[in-house]
Amino acid sequence: MNKLIIAIDGLASTGKSTQAKRLAKTLNYIYVDSGAMYRAVTLFGLKQQPEGRLDLGVLTQSLDQIKIHFEGGAEAQQTFLNGENVTSALRDPKINEYVSEVAALEAVRSFLGEQQKRMGTDKGVVMDGRDIGTVIFPQADCKFFLTASAEVRAQRRHQEQLEAGHEESFEEVFANVVARDQQDSSRTVAPLEKAHDAVEIDVSEMTLDEVFDLLYVTVLKKLKS
Ligand code: C5P
Repeated sequence: MNKLIIAIDGLASTGKSTQAKRLAKTLNYIYVDSGAMYRAVTLFGLKQQPEGRLDLGVLTQSLDQIKIHFEGGAEAQQTFLNGENVTSALRDPKINEYVSEVAALEAVRSFLGEQQKRMGTDKGVVMDGRDIGTVIFPQADCKFFLTASAEVRAQRRHQEQLEAGHEESFEEVFANVVARDQQDSSRTVAPLEKAHDAVEIDVSEMTLDEVFDLLYVTVLKKLKS
């Protein structure tokens, strides 16, 4: 059977990664969490400076020192930054605070974008992010764009943060989710936007299984076409 490139973009905390992982596992495809790559670059930048400050100029000059790779397959995927497993550190609230600033840098986008494009060379890939269907794989076979109300998304993220041991109030999480969408949508390079040919799904009132079924049916149709 021919292999597809599947792009899942959308707003923060709409469950893109959860769906992308399940889809990749079901299809036996590679899963790429492009957000984790932007988070890893942000972590590198924060580690470079004392007291967790961020110098975007210095970071831009040091991109060639950053090596990111994934291990563990779709379901239990772990992200490595220069050989260190940083999966848990990438969910730190500090990263949420700075990642959109880092992701707005053209140098960072082209650095990561080239790597992401290479990961799709053999097809058979599910990649989630903000610009996958618009910039990284405009030729993707299936494109989805997930949305949900800010309240639903903040509740989701708040729960995840608590489970991961990151103490944050609901208000803080809500403010961050809204701020990131705003920053991601208004940047000049590769802004967050729906590709004209993406299937838009508002997941606010849907269960994870319902969203998955919708994605999977669409992919199966494409595979049979
Ligand atoms: O998906 P996740 O919430 O982990 O992404 C973190 C941040 O990385 C986003 O808020 C956005 O600023 C950036 N990002 C991006 N382009 C992508 C994936 C993520 O700009 N393809």
